[in-house]
Amino acid sequence: MNRILIMILAACAAVAMPSFAADKLKLLIVDGQNNHSWKTTTPVLKTILEKTGRFDVSVSTTPDSKAAKDAWNSWRPEFKKFDVILSNYNGQEWPDEVKAAFLGYMKDGGGLVSYHAADNSFPQWKEFNEMIGVGGWGGRNEKSGPKLYWQDGKIVRDTSPGGGGHHGTQHEYLVVIRDTEHPITKGLPASWLHSKDELYDSLRGPAENVTVLATAFSDPKFNGTGHDEPQLMTISFGKGRVFHDALGHSPDQMHDVGFQSTLARGCEWAATGKVTLPAPAADEMPTDYVGLAK
Ligand code: ZN
Repeated sequence: MNRILIMILAACAAVAMPSFAADKLKLLIVDGQNNHSWKTTTPVLKTILEKTGRFDVSVSTTPDSKAAKDAWNSWRPEFKKFDVILSNYNGQEWPDEVKAAFLGYMKDGGGLVSYHAADNSFPQWKEFNEMIGVGGWGGRNEKSGPKLYWQDGKIVRDTSPGGGGHHGTQHEYLVVIRDTEHPITKGLPASWLHSKDELYDSLRGPAENVTVLATAFSDPKFNGTGHDEPQLMTISFGKGRVFHDALGHSPDQMHDVGFQSTLARGCEWAATGKVTLPAPAADEMPTDYVGLAK
């Protein structure tokens, strides 16, 4: 067992719950195409979520990008059988029939969790961009909508021209809770030190019905914007709920309790609108910069 996996399992133990024997939430991870290593992150996501005892996790893997069109004809995930869909997908557009089914599922009160590069996907799919609020790359620019950042206690909608989606060099950074009353963040420490990770900035999109739960300072010394950039968000879409989590580039970036706890709580909230998973103790979510010169 390698060091990272041991750290992940140790952190999982810290957020594990005694039992939720009845009524586990059915969660579907969608993967299969991504410019990230979905084959290594999906098992980690599954482990993090199942260790809480709250979720019954299934995985639906799309055909790969070179697959013949016929292969897509048999990919028809039954979204309505699940309480929440977690997208670990960043690839070609789904067939129209699947997109329509997913749209219907969300409008009728479904749940979506957009994990890391899932917010890079589908730059041309209008409703998907409404669901995630803001996204990055894929040709996104000012026509996609504003950039969001946090300043003086509120969100600024920045309509200035330019690309959407960027990150500087990886480093450890503080994730700062901006909404302490939302079920996902209520009771968490005011901030925590996240594993060395990409810090997404300049995401842009329709940005309607977005609640920013947490931000991170995009430091110019790491080629960042100098703004407090949204990292954890919720979005309402029809009767549906979306939790947008920009963190977690690879398994190396998923071993801190803060990442795992907010992911699991975000999944529970997207599924039910409530959070029953307990907040970790503050000492499980350290805030000290490790090995980082100020
Ligand atoms: Zn990444």
